Amino acid sequence: QKAEWSKLVNEKTVSADGHHVELAANIGTPKDLEGVVNNGGEGIGLYRTEFLYMGRDQLPTEDEQFEAYKAVLEGMEGKPVVVRTLDIGGDKELPYLNLPKEMNPFLGFRAIRLCLEEQDIFRTQLRALLRASKSGNLKIMFPMIATLGEFRQAKEILEEEKQKLVAEGTQVSDQIEVGIMVEIPSTAVMADTFAKEVDFFSIGTNDLIQYTMAADRMNERVSYLYQPYNPAILRLVKMVIVAAHKQGKWAGMCGEMAGDETAIPVLLGLGLDEFSMSATSILKARSLISKLSKADMESLAESVLAMDTNEAVREAVNKAIK
Ligand code: PEP
Ligand code: MG
Repeated sequence: QKAEWSKLVNEKTVSADGHHVELAANIGTPKDLEGVVNNGGEGIGLYRTEFLYMGRDQLPTEDEQFEAYKAVLEGMEGKPVVVRTLDIGGDKELPYLNLPKEMNPFLGFRAIRLCLEEQDIFRTQLRALLRASKSGNLKIMFPMIATLGEFRQAKEILEEEKQKLVAEGTQVSDQIEVGIMVEIPSTAVMADTFAKEVDFFSIGTNDLIQYTMAADRMNERVSYLYQPYNPAILRLVKMVIVAAHKQGKWAGMCGEMAGDETAIPVLLGLGLDEFSMSATSILKARSLISKLSKADMESLAESVLAMDTNEAVREAVNKAIK
């Protein structure tokens, strides 16, 4: 099996009936690039920039960030690189920000909420990204977007920093796509509205599942509710993909579900354009997709979306792909 997979390193990802999808990697630091290249990643679908800010006692400077972003963009040699702006809070703390303790950190002051409030932090990151943008194919993604107002505000701040840099004579790419993570149910439900303004969606199922099922993703006692194949989740995923395609935009997924062998057939059937996963899952996923017919998976997806439970969907998919 390993030998079969290794032949796929430099291949595109194509279903048995000729439909192309993109298999990208999730990374946390520029050091992860080697694994992405060795495993045939067609891009970076999620660069979690939090790690630049963690395990230290002060914020990273604009130059430090610039170097990291440039290294990733150059390393990917023009392939797409989706960089997620700071997603701190929830389970990821930054002690040096001295933020007050919250009763419900996962529902609290985190990610884009923090960035829109602490704008110095946000603007520094955006400047570093914009300065690096000429080094490759940069796409910027905002995490934890719950309302259109948040997206508009974040995009406006990005535009302001871009204008400032251009006025200073810095070269900035004019091809940068700006998208959002869909990890809050309100955003999935309103995807048709968002799709008119964003360039792309990336579905963050790790959080989307926890918020849809109201089950803390870190709490083992409620882990039985963490149900990726629950038709409630699949229907939200479908809404996002349909909304994106209606506006000619692309929809990806960067939660764990994107690399899950039981989920992949359904996601292919629903028309997901990009699957972002840990680099070590890419070749296995490429091999699986090459054996599936998109047309057959469309029928499978339609039938599982009408099912009652997570378990029924799991069984149906596993039976269908045997
Ligand atoms: C997600 O929520 O699915 C996601 C990819 O982001 P993180 O796991 O970093 O919260
Ligand atoms: Mg998340």
